[in-house]
Formats: sequence, C-alpha cells, structure tokens
Amino acid sequence: MADMIRCPACNAETSASNKFCEFCGSPLNAAPVNPTAPANGKKIEEYKCPACGSPLVFSTDSGKLKCSACDNEYEVGTIQQYQEKRASLNADIDRILKEITSILGIDDLED
Ligand SMILES: [Zn+2]
Ligand SMILES: [Zn+2]
Repeated sequence: MADMIRCPACNAETSASNKFCEFCGSPLNAAPVNPTAPANGKKIEEYKCPACGSPLVFSTDSGKLKCSACDNEYEVGTIQQYQEKRASLNADIDRILKEITSILGIDDLED
C-alpha cells in the first residue's frame, strides 16, 4: 500500500516511501524547524498535564506547554515523550488484562 504524503517544500503529493520529493527534490523526512507550533493560548486537546490531568495550553511567550489548572510548565518534547510512554503503557495494561481474563476464563472485563 502506497501512502501519500505532502512535500513540506512544494506541497505536492508524493509517495511516502520516497526519501526525496519527486517534484522538487526536497528531503521528505526532515523534521520541521518548528514542529506545528500552535497559536498562543490554543488548547492542545491531546496533551494533558501529567500532574493534574488538565488540558495543557501552548504559551508562545515561554514556548512551553502550560497547565490551565496548576500552572506547571512543560517542554513540548517532554510531554510528547510522556504521552508516548503512557500510550505504550496503556497498550501493555490492555495486553496484561487480556491475559488475566483469559487465565480466569472471563470473556471480557468491562472497564
Ligand atoms: Zn517538493
Ligand atoms: Zn496541572
């Protein structure tokens, strides 16, 4: 299956398997200098405060994610790592729960 991605330089659609844009030759996998910098005060729904679970808001003043509830500030990269670790942890927990339920002979645990 051929995934299509957009060239960051010329915006042409090109195959994701290409290392370089077939139209302009720009590298396709280069990380953007400022990865999707959100507007000031914009809520980033998928980022939650590790301390209290409230939504984090991007502050262009500090260039960090700030919690709307407890005022803690976090580096965007730190939060991204945190979310990734959490996601993989949740996947582990799901897997372990499935193992336990199959050992116990329960079909499925509701929440
Ligand atoms: Zn291009
Ligand atoms: Zn918080």
